[in-house]
Amino acid sequence: MEFSKITEAFEKLDQTQKTLEKTDILAELFEESGEQLPQVVLMCTGTPFPAWKDLDLGVSSKTLVKIISKATGRSEKEVEKEWKEQGDLGLAAQTMVEKKTQQRLMSQEITVQKTFERMQKVAEMESEGLNSSVNQDKKQKELADLISSSEPREAKYLARIIINNLRLGVGEGTIRDALSEAFFDGKHFEDIQKAYDFSNDFAEVAKACREGLEQVNSLELELYRPVKSMLAKNVDTIEEGFEEVGEPASINYKYDGMRAQIHVKEGEVKVFTRRLDDVTEQFPDVVEAVEENIESDNCILDTEIVGYDPEDGGMIPFQRLSKRIKRKYDIQKLKEEIPVEVRPFDLIYLDEPILQRPYSERWEKLKSVVNEQEEEMKLVDNDITLEAERVQEMQQASLSDGHEGIMMKNLEAEYKPGNRVGYMVKLKPVMETLDLAIVGAKWSEGRRSNWLGRLFLGCYDKENNEYLEVGKMATGLTDEQFQEITEKLKPLITNEEGRKVDVRPEVIVEAEYEEIQESPTYSSGYALRFPRMKQFREDKEKADSLEKIKGLYQDQN
Ligand code: ATP
Repeated sequence: MEFSKITEAFEKLDQTQKTLEKTDILAELFEESGEQLPQVVLMCTGTPFPAWKDLDLGVSSKTLVKIISKATGRSEKEVEKEWKEQGDLGLAAQTMVEKKTQQRLMSQEITVQKTFERMQKVAEMESEGLNSSVNQDKKQKELADLISSSEPREAKYLARIIINNLRLGVGEGTIRDALSEAFFDGKHFEDIQKAYDFSNDFAEVAKACREGLEQVNSLELELYRPVKSMLAKNVDTIEEGFEEVGEPASINYKYDGMRAQIHVKEGEVKVFTRRLDDVTEQFPDVVEAVEENIESDNCILDTEIVGYDPEDGGMIPFQRLSKRIKRKYDIQKLKEEIPVEVRPFDLIYLDEPILQRPYSERWEKLKSVVNEQEEEMKLVDNDITLEAERVQEMQQASLSDGHEGIMMKNLEAEYKPGNRVGYMVKLKPVMETLDLAIVGAKWSEGRRSNWLGRLFLGCYDKENNEYLEVGKMATGLTDEQFQEITEKLKPLITNEEGRKVDVRPEVIVEAEYEEIQESPTYSSGYALRFPRMKQFREDKEKADSLEKIKGLYQDQN
């Protein structure tokens, strides 16, 4: 199948805001995709790699400028100028390819297959950590070849995919509905959703849809293919908590650590963050703790990894622990400075998937496989009760031990990957903070002129898979943090106009604020009053949702 087929559909998607129209456009494309359907569906998600795979092209906007220059024989300066003028690197790529004077040497249509293979190859180079300039060159050449043999419109979308900035307004729900429309006359979308929840892989789901409902229903959770974590709702009171999760409930301490999904396959351990990044290498102590204290060779544990002070054994906040997530060197040293304890709270696979069994049963199974060992592996502190006083007592105890509060969990409930369902709720005494993506920034003036100062914050609109602004933040940051933010944001810049830059929404920060107001200024319709930086949330991939902000706004009024 030619890549131009995808491009045509993308052009149509760009021209409508209506979800139903988007679904129809995608359904038509999916029907026409034949054998290539899995790849086509992935491209529509904005990246050619399934969600669970820790693969990434690793191309910054600056590198893309180089790639476009190589592909079109124009200087980097010219590409940058075009980028500035058009405000979008995709459009710049399109114009540059249009302007390309010399006739293409090998004028061959690019296919979906070829595009896919190239990108796969580049991502594999990236994940092998081949950072030498030779490999950087190779990587750029592979992608430049692709752009140079493409038509202008194709170049536009290729460029956007390469920097992970497709922005078609197509969410997971729309892809699911389009698959249902294309293959099951609009029926069975729940089965498709479930297949996606369990596999976390739209390529697999698409392939199954072509084969039939039975195949869709046979997709299961698999070891080494991490699924999204089940998330918690927020409640303000114990009564509200019981209403949500039922009585009696399982009450756990809520620790301020890092969520980790730990897979054991034939005795080999892998550790994934909630962004589904593989951090096994960064946490050799976690691997050891699991090898020694988990009595199963094939299981998936849902856990909180908690850091503690090696001197006094006290808990340390997530911000310090988070140093370990990204670190690729001095791992042994860091392991001693910031030791961790694994606190499992759920088990979703034990020789077979068990995520649809009730929580009480999963918890019993979890208990039977965990050997508790001080400072290595300990089940979360917990109790089962229907007494509000007992919950209150646990809340107090948890807080005085330096933890964040408590979680209340429904004993009958299944495990729903990726959903903020009311099967577990969190009760924290402090004001709810928001985890928001930095979507733009402004270069400062004066002493800090080479720093990105004012930060524009965005929440996530799930339905349209886009980010909407909710305010700007300029306080609460130390000089060090400003510098760190600038370094983080620079490679993510997609557009620059005067001092203002747009960035890909990949840096998530936790913000405190006074209150939420309605606001015509920001695209979300809401504005945070006096947002302040609390900390980076390296463990998170997506910002809090627009619904959450709406909910908080309603609660406060
Ligand atoms: P927060 O910022 O409050 O940690 P979040 O958005 O990261 O919230 P939620 O799903 O809303 O995530 O809250 C649950 C989080 O709390 C989990 O992701 C997990 O990391 C952490 N946690 C700590 N202790 C527990 C526990 N006993 N059971 C479940 N989750 C726990």
